[in-house]
Amino acid sequence: MPAATKNIYKKLIKLSFSAMLILCLTACSFSGLLGAKSEVEKLSKTDFVLDTAATVTLYGCGDEQLLERCFELCRQYELIFSRTDERSELYELNAAGSMAVSDELLELITLSRDYAELSGGAFDFTLGGVSVLYGFSSDSPRAPSGGELAAVMEHVGWEKVRIDGNVVTLSDPGAVLDLGAIAKGWIADRVAELLLENGVDSAIINLGGNVLCLGSRPDGENFVVGLQYPFKDMSQTIADIRVSDMSVVTSGVYQRCFEQDGVFYHHILDPGTGLPCGNGLLAVSVVSPRSADCDALSTACFVLGLDDGLELVDSLDGVYAVFVTEDYKLHYSDGFQDALF
Ligand code: AMP
Ligand code: MG
Repeated sequence: MPAATKNIYKKLIKLSFSAMLILCLTACSFSGLLGAKSEVEKLSKTDFVLDTAATVTLYGCGDEQLLERCFELCRQYELIFSRTDERSELYELNAAGSMAVSDELLELITLSRDYAELSGGAFDFTLGGVSVLYGFSSDSPRAPSGGELAAVMEHVGWEKVRIDGNVVTLSDPGAVLDLGAIAKGWIADRVAELLLENGVDSAIINLGGNVLCLGSRPDGENFVVGLQYPFKDMSQTIADIRVSDMSVVTSGVYQRCFEQDGVFYHHILDPGTGLPCGNGLLAVSVVSPRSADCDALSTACFVLGLDDGLELVDSLDGVYAVFVTEDYKLHYSDGFQDALF
């Protein structure tokens, strides 16, 4: 890549990093604005991990060392679940086609398979080859040709993944697993466990907008989480919700996207065609106690679309969702407004 292009991308990465910082700071200032007692000590750290800016904030408990351990844990899991890092266990599995995997990878693949089944295949963690073609996480995303897409789509299908004990086998060696739609949520749950084990009862874990609120604010009130207004500055919210011991995860077209020849492309893919889902949705936010569930369901519901997505969420206990359509209208699942406003 020419040096000038490299520099532009470096700047872009820095810009998106600072944009994420603004979001994190905004999330904190909401809790400040709404009455967190100023005398409560707040410890916060932001770092670039899991291909995004992550922030962990502890209220009135824990120390710098514990904060650092949260980020170490994220890095440790990144080395298991990353599709792109050649040192990762998932990379090894994708290359080998069959191998005995760690308990962590087994758990996440099993959960992914459960969500693939629950969503009738809308959540499909074998779309890795398609993601590679678009290069959403690369320096130069581009739309593949119809022929290129057809060639990789032959290897997509969550039923190609077999689990036998701790051995995972891709019955189609061309299949490429991608856990990007669920891993951040699962990792947020592990960070929350680490904090709980260490006596923390009030914290916000924000892995690039994948938010988990541990406990409630130090003054006993709910945390306030702002849902980003699609395409607007990250500090602008389309709704503010109130949560304790809950995770809030959004899948949105604006999170990873590009334009080519006047056509808008985004990273949430239709497993039937390999094309970005074009179903009139801009974003889906899911709220539930477990961040892994929120993460998987936000992606699944986006792919299912407004009607089927709402039906799925309404069939699940303790799960809420809000869908944003292209006209910027909000559509809530049953009980959302009573529980979260
Ligand atoms: P999220 O932001 O959690 O909705 O996850 C989106 C990411 O998951 C994308 O960047 C892809 O890596 C991957 N992905 C895209 N479409 C799907 C899908 N239909 N099912 C599962 N993972 C997907
Ligand atoms: Mg997701």
